[in-house]
Amino acid sequence: MNDVAAILPAAPARATPVMAQYLDIKAAHPGSLLFYRMGDFYELFFDDAVAAAGILGIALTRRGKHLGEDIPMCGVPVHAADGYLQKLIRHGQRVAVCEQLEDAAESRKRGAKAVLRRDVVRLVTPGTLTEESLLDSGAHNYLAAFARVKGANEYALAWADISSGDLAVMETTPLRLSADLARLAPREILVADSILAEPDLARALDECGAAITPLPPGRFDSTAGERRVADHFGVKALDGFGAFTRAEIAGLGGLLDYILLTQAGQVPHLRPPRRENAQSGLLIDAATRANLELSRTLAGDKRGSLHSVIDLTVTAGGARLLGERLANPLAVCDEIEDRLDSVAFFVDAPTLRDSLRKLLKAFPDIERALGRVSVGRGGPRDLASIRDGLTSAQSLAAALAGDAGLAALPAEIGLARQALAAIPSALHRALIDTLGDDLPLSARDGGFARPGFSAELDEARRLRDDTRQVIASLQGKYTEATGIKSLKVRHNNILGYYIEVSAQNAPALQQAREIYFHRQTVANAMRFSSAELGLLEQRISAAGDKALALELGIFDQLTASVIAERDTLSRIAAAVSVIDVSSALAELAMRRRYVRPMVDGSTAFDIRAGRHPVVEAMLEQRADSPFIANDCNLSEGDKRLWLVTGPNMAGKSTFLRQNALIVILAQMGSFVPARSAHVGVVDRLFSRVGAADDLARGRSTFMVEMVETAAILNQATPRSFVILDEIGRGTATFDGLSIAWASVEHLHETNRSRALFATHYHELTALAARLRHLGNVTIKVREWRGDVVFLHEVVAGAADRSYGIQVAKLAGLPAPVTSRAAEVLKLLEQSDQSAARLALVDDLPLFSAARPASLTHTAHSAVEQKLAAIDPDELTPRDALALVYELKAGLPKTS
Ligand code: ATP
Repeated sequence: MNDVAAILPAAPARATPVMAQYLDIKAAHPGSLLFYRMGDFYELFFDDAVAAAGILGIALTRRGKHLGEDIPMCGVPVHAADGYLQKLIRHGQRVAVCEQLEDAAESRKRGAKAVLRRDVVRLVTPGTLTEESLLDSGAHNYLAAFARVKGANEYALAWADISSGDLAVMETTPLRLSADLARLAPREILVADSILAEPDLARALDECGAAITPLPPGRFDSTAGERRVADHFGVKALDGFGAFTRAEIAGLGGLLDYILLTQAGQVPHLRPPRRENAQSGLLIDAATRANLELSRTLAGDKRGSLHSVIDLTVTAGGARLLGERLANPLAVCDEIEDRLDSVAFFVDAPTLRDSLRKLLKAFPDIERALGRVSVGRGGPRDLASIRDGLTSAQSLAAALAGDAGLAALPAEIGLARQALAAIPSALHRALIDTLGDDLPLSARDGGFARPGFSAELDEARRLRDDTRQVIASLQGKYTEATGIKSLKVRHNNILGYYIEVSAQNAPALQQAREIYFHRQTVANAMRFSSAELGLLEQRISAAGDKALALELGIFDQLTASVIAERDTLSRIAAAVSVIDVSSALAELAMRRRYVRPMVDGSTAFDIRAGRHPVVEAMLEQRADSPFIANDCNLSEGDKRLWLVTGPNMAGKSTFLRQNALIVILAQMGSFVPARSAHVGVVDRLFSRVGAADDLARGRSTFMVEMVETAAILNQATPRSFVILDEIGRGTATFDGLSIAWASVEHLHETNRSRALFATHYHELTALAARLRHLGNVTIKVREWRGDVVFLHEVVAGAADRSYGIQVAKLAGLPAPVTSRAAEVLKLLEQSDQSAARLALVDDLPLFSAARPASLTHTAHSAVEQKLAAIDPDELTPRDALALVYELKAGLPKTS
């Protein structure tokens, strides 16, 4: 029963005992909203209530007083709590869930006024969720910890997905922290509060958008951490898991400590920590990821991202693995080749692929079910998922062993099949034999054990159900005895069973006092009980309790068997995900005509007839004109840096991005949209595309552009791949041109990366005359009756104009504006800048030893001196004409 009244004293005196308990628990969990269980509700009080009511859009009431002030209060029903929790977590809140740990009868044993024992059983934070309804099934939910050992100048990131049990750690540096976090995309980051005082590190942490949880530095003590991790995994030393740095151990220790704290001691299933090698992946910084729209578009939608186009997986685990591979492409050729072999295998085996994909569709999310079971939050449906998952695993293993002999399987798929073949049959059998067909969400609801599984349980259930029948017949008996046709025997959680009659009919029962006794008066009705009904109720409740206790025992046994097999079950889940991803990528390759890329240790980049995966898919969906494929060869003839010029809307950005996306697809182990592709493995991918303000961080469009460009010029290596789109557009023309100019020189001479540089500064194309590895390409258009027709075809050469005004016309700029713009353009073009441009090319700092002080020459010619001396207002038209003749005569003979 809801005992809100008990917490809310009418007088402002001392806190009531319940309030005292509330305040104690609240004080022990600062920084979290306290969900305080009172009967069927979680109640929130004081500031918590104000915050939660605002976010959840629920009524905020004021009841009772504390220290003379009204107490704000709001509440959510327990059965609907998940939805509210989800909303609060999305708004960056953390919630401490405080449960009643005994029932009223137990508390009364300690005295009539004893308060129910309550305590926090769990802290719900963004990074520690396990509930299906709170999680996105297609994405990992990482909790990360960033740790540093200052003396050793070591930094590390540890992360875990407690819903799937994945635990990993890697070294990082302040410079690459932002890129590593962008790759992981954690929901929550734990960090020592002292680190947050350092602006550079704090900014990198803040940028990734996760909730930041500051902790006292002591939580990241590496010695205590080592002990904690070793104890958790039951080993003496961590060496068996890999050679960890102190910072890595500190990160793992802090992470584990927090997980145990939030789960209130319930030990979730975590696999031993994997150590990831920072060098084995393709590094992509946060800006590049966002610009390339890998998992979301710049507008924040999933639709229109690369992920949305390439994801044909059919299981939740497969979708998560694909997302992880896309977020973390490899940079080690052998591993990439292994993945490509798996995709190629399924491309070549369409019948097997089809049948496997059909089987996979029925595969439940056993990874997450296992996660819930291991933190004691599992229900009968989770056990059923594991049962059905094992049945599917058997069929998958059989299908894989069928036509293709085991020896013919590529390495990854062979290993996956081995894992599937090793299903724990005793557990599988037990789950099949025990669980019924129609299962409740929670074990406490009972009714999940199959009839016939336990004779004792069947007997208790029969007793309970038979008695229910007797109660139904009791209603008939009382109706007849009293002559009240509307008499009902009903049940609720507070009164139990009772007899209900309308207020008018009540006297008939009140008179028969020896049979019926009054229990409650409600609007228009009175409720009674009888000795017989009370007896029956006791029998039902005893039989029901017994049945439930028996079922809970069975449930505990089953969960214990599941937990005992959790490593095997995890391996099966991982194997299914690998099969799903490989066969889905094969399906994608077939549907969209992708080819296997050749990935090696060279610095080649030779794409024949490459396409943009997303633009192509969109054009196809709209049944628009087909995508025009284009070559890009940054290895051929040593032209590794291409300047891409061409009109607006011609397809420059599309061309740049498609090549960057081909690098990502190839290195994540997918086939690529091209006729052929040779990619020398790339270590870092950079892009600077488009312009966006970042006002939240106090950066203007131009500042964002320069920060991103600086990152590229400072960090790109000869193994990197760079795309730069319209550098310098956010400032005055000449400032921008100068920056673009110097950036091209730097990329060419210092970074020496494979790069595509799109620009409207046609002046830059003159650089090709001097920079040996620079090539000019342009995108073809045709002019037709004053309009442009885009051909989207990349050809060698340079564009001489941007057709900006024609594109503006297409966009619907008013006619007077476009015609005036055409006049202005004509005037501007008349002032010849080609001489200055040539002077600049000759003046490249990289090629000339000394730099002239100024590029403009200041000596005045005779003509200029003469012109300066005259006052035009003093001239008649005739004088002016004579002057023109005179000036012309003074010009050198060649002009
Ligand atoms: P701007 O200079 O104005 O930024 P841009 O040259 O970068 O333009 P994009 O944004 O790449 O042009 O392309 C404009 C549109 O042209 C795309 O949205 C796409 O619909 C279409 N397009 C681009 N490339 C191709 C192609 N190869 N085949 C077919 N359509 C294409």
